[in-house]
Amino acid sequence: MNRVVIVGSAGRMGKRLVYNILESEDMELAGAVECEGNPVLGQDAGMVAGHSDSGVKIESELNLENADAVIDFSTGGTVLKNARNAVKNNCSVIIGTTALSDDEQETLKKLAENGGRIILASNFSLGVNLLFHLSEQLAEKLDSSYNIEIVEMHHNQKKDSPSGTAVTLGEKVCKGRGLDYKKDVKNGREGVVGARSENEIGMHALRGGDVVGDHTVIFATEGERIELAHKASSRDAFVKGALEAVRYLENADSGFYSMKNVLDI
Ligand code: NAD
Repeated sequence: MNRVVIVGSAGRMGKRLVYNILESEDMELAGAVECEGNPVLGQDAGMVAGHSDSGVKIESELNLENADAVIDFSTGGTVLKNARNAVKNNCSVIIGTTALSDDEQETLKKLAENGGRIILASNFSLGVNLLFHLSEQLAEKLDSSYNIEIVEMHHNQKKDSPSGTAVTLGEKVCKGRGLDYKKDVKNGREGVVGARSENEIGMHALRGGDVVGDHTVIFATEGERIELAHKASSRDAFVKGALEAVRYLENADSGFYSMKNVLDI
């Protein structure tokens, strides 16, 4: 039985994680954390998630006494602190929070080198992880006459832009085509920017309504274009992958893993 603590437990993702853990047969909700001052503190996590009374109150402190794993989808800047705490307590760490800086990601890798079992993924869905794989392959196979553009759309409450998934897609196509993300990816276009250069990769973020997450990678050349698209219609697509990650880390050696390892693709 995996005993799991959810950080960001009253958020859109947090609630679905709590709900699905309460439904699962091999997992137990061991704790639920929210930020200081959040009105849900002290309330039952299962009830907040629209499930049933779980007996787990939402707290502002990460308590890992009875935990095997921590899933963090919080947005308040405490991801590293939580991960350090979890590794110290021999808990697996599953992080879905996006827009972590390069330095923060390096620190997580160091934590894994020093005994942590960590998975960081910009997107936990199986479909998107296949999209990552296929986008890199197409970018490698098609010559540079195929212009690559990435378009993403999310709900109107999303805080970061472009999405973590779109950034990973950018990294994958750069890798496939031998480009440099920092130099070659152009976020949006405005004004008289001139003709498109062969190597640039356009990145475009749309926001509106309740869209869970759409991502399209376009390869356009003279006379034709190929579009690889993924549309998430439920956050449970990400929850399913995050719970698979918990199961994977249960028997893994220490290390910094990706969903590629979990899904074996
Ligand atoms: P949300 O705003 O609905 O939820 C975030 C929650 O974190 C809120 O309830 C907030 O109160 C809480 N929080 C803020 N600071 C905290 C702290 N210090 N300690 C504990 N909780 C804290 O956002 P969301 O849509 O659920 O997304 C959360 C994050 O997950 C975002 O970074 C988003 O981009 C990312 N995300 C990742 C995936 C994936 O598959 N990796 C999928 C969806 C969303």
